[in-house]
Amino acid sequence: MADVQMADSETFAFQAEINQLLSLIINTFYSNKEIFLRELISNASDALDKIRFESLTDKSKLDAQPELFIRLVPDKANKTLSIIDSGVGMTKADLVNNLGTIARSGTKEFMEALQAGADVSMIGQFGVGFYSAYLVAEKVIVTTKHNDDEQYVWESQAGGSFTVTRDVNGEQLGRGTKITLFLKEDQLEYLEERRIKDLVKKHSEFISYPIYLWTEKTNEKEISDDEDDEPKKEEEGDVEEVDEEKETKSKKKKIKEVSHEWQLINKQKPIWLRKPEEITKEEYAAFYKSLTNDWEDHLAVKHFSVEGQLEFKAILFVPKRAPFDLFDTRKKMNNIKLYVRRVFIMDNCEELIPEYLGFIKGVVDSDDLPLNISREMLQQNKILKVIRKNLVKKCIEMFTEIAENKEDYNKFYDAFSKNLKLGIHEDSQNRAKLADLLRYHSTKSGDEMTSLKDYVTRMKEGQKDIYYITGESKKAVENSPFLERLKKKGYEVLYMVDAIDEYAVGQLKEYDGKKLVSATKEGLKLDDETEEEKKKKEEKKKSFEELCRTIKDILGDKVEKVVVSDRIVDSPCCLVTGEYGWTANMERIMKAQALRDTSMGSYMSSKKTMEINPDNGIMEELRKRAAADKNDKSVKDLVLLLFETALLTSGFSLEDPNTFAARIHRMLKLGLSIDEEETGGDDEDMPPLEEGGAEESKMEEVD
Ligand code: ADP
Ligand code: MG
Repeated sequence: MADVQMADSETFAFQAEINQLLSLIINTFYSNKEIFLRELISNASDALDKIRFESLTDKSKLDAQPELFIRLVPDKANKTLSIIDSGVGMTKADLVNNLGTIARSGTKEFMEALQAGADVSMIGQFGVGFYSAYLVAEKVIVTTKHNDDEQYVWESQAGGSFTVTRDVNGEQLGRGTKITLFLKEDQLEYLEERRIKDLVKKHSEFISYPIYLWTEKTNEKEISDDEDDEPKKEEEGDVEEVDEEKETKSKKKKIKEVSHEWQLINKQKPIWLRKPEEITKEEYAAFYKSLTNDWEDHLAVKHFSVEGQLEFKAILFVPKRAPFDLFDTRKKMNNIKLYVRRVFIMDNCEELIPEYLGFIKGVVDSDDLPLNISREMLQQNKILKVIRKNLVKKCIEMFTEIAENKEDYNKFYDAFSKNLKLGIHEDSQNRAKLADLLRYHSTKSGDEMTSLKDYVTRMKEGQKDIYYITGESKKAVENSPFLERLKKKGYEVLYMVDAIDEYAVGQLKEYDGKKLVSATKEGLKLDDETEEEKKKKEEKKKSFEELCRTIKDILGDKVEKVVVSDRIVDSPCCLVTGEYGWTANMERIMKAQALRDTSMGSYMSSKKTMEINPDNGIMEELRKRAAADKNDKSVKDLVLLLFETALLTSGFSLEDPNTFAARIHRMLKLGLSIDEEETGGDDEDMPPLEEGGAEESKMEEVD
């Protein structure tokens, strides 16, 4: 394509690296092309910043064009999109240097980053944002006027070179720059008003200069027929005038009129720069919605600024609901947008907030970070670390404020308690503060949930530990045999029925100097007995030692050991896990997740201790039978059935439910006096399992 060039136009070769960058931009597929507009608007904003700054000391610098603005002009007829600003503009030398002959240090870095898989949207951070124009344009024309020079035109279709021409005859800008993009055939979406508005809203809403869009409006108007149909040509920008006052009795006729106007499409002053006391709840809500596309208002907001050695402003929001993919591990959540001096930098800066607070939405605007910061730099950045620390602190403050309103806090807790617990697990520095935010149902809390703090106020005299039980659901733990003695003695027990509780409590270990003790683990000591009680108990324990050994023999590897229990009152027995091993609940969670290598699973889950209740009638009967005849088959049968039942009541799952069911069925038949073929017929009265005899042989087969 040979351009007809004016006599005084000069051709320049792109510097080698820039040339390389251009071909990379043009020839590589990037889906995220829309960012070009952000880059060009950001350049316009920079240019406006410069002239504004210059005008602070010399007002006359604004004379050629007093108004500071950014204008966007889509032209469907010519398939061009122009971005016009009344910024500082460029001299001829600027044009030649800045747009093609002098490579920024970031040029090479950016190409390397791209090749290493970086996203093209990072381009601005490497100081080569201008070239993103070629993501969507096959040709770019830059018309510019600097106070110190004439108006010049820069033009290039990439391909190695660009031209610079003195612009004598073109429309004069006064001051500033007009960038005209000749859009590629498949990029015409950027001529659509809707698309442009959305993009500005998404990427440039908080540019502090007005952004106007040249919009077109078509109205249907009725005009009377007797009015002579003057052949009015509809020219662009022409508003067809209709004489509304004319009285008409005759037929009316519809005509279309096209009008154009500049529509302001941004809100200029960033809300976070305003004083919190001057911002209404509605304004926060509107900002929240524009930020998140949420259709509901936020649940809570925290707007603050940090001053001193380091300065930044931030607005943080808690949404009302958790997103459906809150814990989708494939998707890294991060909803804090990072601005540096009002220029949007990035919206998924992982360094800004820990993962467990990934549901927090908001903006941070730093005065200290360099504008051209790269992701790699962010990881090391000390400023960012301080910002992060502050954000976490403010988030926890915000949650604590939410907790002042019960209804709100219930909503919050419903949606995000898992995040808090994840925080307990991961954030050792804030663990204690996060623990204050936990709420649990308990043996004494009724329908409400209790905080650990309230639990502590209810602790019995002499109670040293905080008791909890983990399990699958409130229902499943409420009547657990483990709670019997604790309840009887009046100790409150927290129900931890969320899978993540198991992990969180493992890290928390204590609250307010009080140890958190699991009711289902070995070593639960409730030492508040008199000497006499203790003595009696010891004697009883002794009398059951023999039975313990017998049971262990029968169960073999199924249990680690068998001991006389301290914690059960009604049930005959229960299964507890080692203090450092998995609880039944954890075993359930791990099985459900089917993760970790199986060796760890068997190591962690194998340590079950059977605790038997010497005061229970079944156990007493068992003791007698075992004492009379160690090899009594009914003893073996009963022990197995007790073990399997205890697995269930203690929160474990049955490895082989069929065997268990077979045992129960046989017991039912016994109870119902139904003969089985091999039953010798000695089915007498209840209780069935104490009836030995011919049952034995079959039961053994089942094992
Ligand atoms: P950066 O914005 O990081 O400097 P860009 O590639 O976006 O990098 O822009 C390169 C340079 O081109 C800018 O530094 C500026 O000097 C010049 N420039 C680009 N757009 C404009 C504009 N609209 N007005 C004035 N100068 C501009
Ligand atoms: Mg730029």
